[in-house]
Amino acid sequence: MIRNEDEIKKMAKAGKVVAEIHEKIRSAIKPGVTTLELDKVSRDVLEKRGATSNFLGYHGFPATICTSPNSMIVHGIPGSYVLKEGDLISVDCGAIVDGYHGDAAFSVGVGNVSKSVSRLIEVTEKSLFAGIDKLVAGNHLHEVGRAIQDVAEAAGYSVVKEYVGHAIGTRMHEEPQVPNYWPGHPGPRLKVGHVFAIEPMVNEKGAETVVLDDGWSVVTKDGSLSAHFEHTIAITDAGPTVLTTL
Ligand code: MG
Ligand code: MG
Repeated sequence: MIRNEDEIKKMAKAGKVVAEIHEKIRSAIKPGVTTLELDKVSRDVLEKRGATSNFLGYHGFPATICTSPNSMIVHGIPGSYVLKEGDLISVDCGAIVDGYHGDAAFSVGVGNVSKSVSRLIEVTEKSLFAGIDKLVAGNHLHEVGRAIQDVAEAAGYSVVKEYVGHAIGTRMHEEPQVPNYWPGHPGPRLKVGHVFAIEPMVNEKGAETVVLDDGWSVVTKDGSLSAHFEHTIAITDAGPTVLTTL
């Protein structure tokens, strides 16, 4: 769907709330903190900004953020898990302002981390920005996934295929989907006013995934580490504009 300038301004407001949640959660992350405490940080920002959560209640999801440590890829439920030195933690969250959605995720190391954790985080974030660079009017959508896959695979990693990015607007998940790999065809042509949430999930080893018994938490099948970065981006005349930033 094509969004006009006014709609994109509203989405930028939602994006700023998401970015503020990210900033506050990043400063709260340290050894000894539970993932439930991170959800409280998000709830406080949402309330202070008069925003609502697009995660809470989504197909029954019980929190305003997803927290996915180490080999967990996405959709982890905040709870009693205590962050420990050396963990990789992925946090995904969103906000609704005036009916428009923002959605973004990041991974970060807890305290001092191994070289393998920091490298996976760096490469996954780099793959996100390689994808974002392709969000230019006139390009084809699936050049995004190809760029992401190229960066991840050049580093010896694999991209998750079962979970993908998406268009976003008055709903969090709108069509079309945005795979983080080349799906074999170029996809639709990009236009000014398109808004997407691009979100590579990169595994240190194999791409295969398993959903745990809670029905939400997605983990790597081989137990290897996974990282996740996401931004909501509008295609404007000036090129890709990241909305989930302060
Ligand atoms: Mg997200
Ligand atoms: Mg998303």
